[in-house]
Amino acid sequence: MNLNFSPEEISFQEEVRDFLKQELTQDLVNAAKHTSAVFTEKEVAMKWQKKLANKGWLVPSWPEEYGGTNWTQTQRYIFSSECAKAGAPNLIPMGLAMIGPLLLGKGTKEQKDYYIPRIISGEDYWCQGYSEPGAGSDLASLQCKAERVGDEYVINGTKIWTTHAHLANKIFCLVRTDNSGKNQEGITFLMLDMNQPGVKVEPILTMAKDHDFNQVVFTDAVAKVSDRIGEENQGWSVAKYLLEFERSGGIGGSKSLSDLDFIRRLIKKISSTHKDSSFADTYNTKVAELEIKALSIQYTSLRILSSLTKGDSPGPESSMMKTLVTDLEQEISELTLEVIGYYGIPFQDTSLGSNKPAIGDEDYRSIAGKYQNLRATTIYGGSNEIQRNIMAKAVLGL
Ligand SMILES: Cc1cc2nc3c(=O)[nH]c(=O)nc-3n(C[C@H](O)[C@H](O)[C@H](O)COP(=O)(O)OP(=O)(O)OC[C@H]3O[C@@H](n4cnc5c(N)ncnc54)[C@H](O)[C@@H]3O)c2cc1C
Repeated sequence: MNLNFSPEEISFQEEVRDFLKQELTQDLVNAAKHTSAVFTEKEVAMKWQKKLANKGWLVPSWPEEYGGTNWTQTQRYIFSSECAKAGAPNLIPMGLAMIGPLLLGKGTKEQKDYYIPRIISGEDYWCQGYSEPGAGSDLASLQCKAERVGDEYVINGTKIWTTHAHLANKIFCLVRTDNSGKNQEGITFLMLDMNQPGVKVEPILTMAKDHDFNQVVFTDAVAKVSDRIGEENQGWSVAKYLLEFERSGGIGGSKSLSDLDFIRRLIKKISSTHKDSSFADTYNTKVAELEIKALSIQYTSLRILSSLTKGDSPGPESSMMKTLVTDLEQEISELTLEVIGYYGIPFQDTSLGSNKPAIGDEDYRSIAGKYQNLRATTIYGGSNEIQRNIMAKAVLGL
């Protein structure tokens, strides 16, 4: 097997590097590094999204008529690893990695033609209304109710943990339209406006003091029937299709490899003040162990991506990737915290635009906050325990 890039791929890599040198400005890299939140601040993410959209590189895997690049797997791998290496901000997934792919796979032509360009331009900023108080892992027990009145649905109920609902102008939601059958039956998938009188957003702060998510209360909120994806009462299969995209993420491992490089630089800096080499030896060994995991995840995700180009949806492999990537992210954040020792203890201000000096080195600023916030990754998108249940059933046949 030839693992070297071809001359065309090397020239593509140079093109990507040139683009990043020009467009990925230091303020964007610093803002991405500064934040401890799981999701990049909207302002930062959208600035980066606009630059990628202008270049035509925002949604490489989408069909060309809807903004895709028709890149090969290797090109996509090169692009994503160069972005990770250069410290590019993460993009917000609710539009680009959830409702976008869902519309492409299950939306009507009218829905695609209307919504896809608005996702790419950032005109629509989406949030996801799946979870409810009492319906998280057991999502099918959701109770938020929608009643059909003419050309509209009227919605009443509560959604919770809704990331960026306070910033979004659109929400995609699972609602109950029938109570008579099994829980999975009678669920409908709707898209609606956040900016309407029947929608109230109440903030929930994280333990690192970030405002990422919210409770959303619907009181006679309305959605157009034409904004339903799939048939009425058939929303469960639509919801699962979207979750497969949410869980599979992009090319897993690239971001982890660049996070491990960051730990290596920290170790080098800190060990220059140590008299013996045991500090560097111990932690470099731990970094190497995690690097092996990151590389194996990267190869696995490339294999999965290659099957997606044949038009498949990610399937239960997405549960495997979600579990592997998020467990590794947590291990890396734990190791980073361990490396900086007691500099991980004080609260550091990571809010956008803050000019409070960091305690210790500037590189330490977001480490403890990231460690705390990354606890969430094994919970959101369906907890890792639930993913293991799915793998046991769908992959192992247990
Ligand atoms: C940062 C963050 C962002 C989020 N953003 C959104 C969002 O934008 N939109 C949205 O709709 N939701 C969002 N969520 C919600 C997320 O999807 C739920 O938290 C998740 O599905 C778990 O549900 P729950 O919190 O109700 O926990 P529960 O379902 O009550 O689970 C509690 C614990 O029990 C375990 N458990 C439950 N059932 C089983 C079982 N059958 N087998 C084994 N273990 C089980 C779980 O793994 C978990 O450890 C977000 C969550 C977080 C943390």
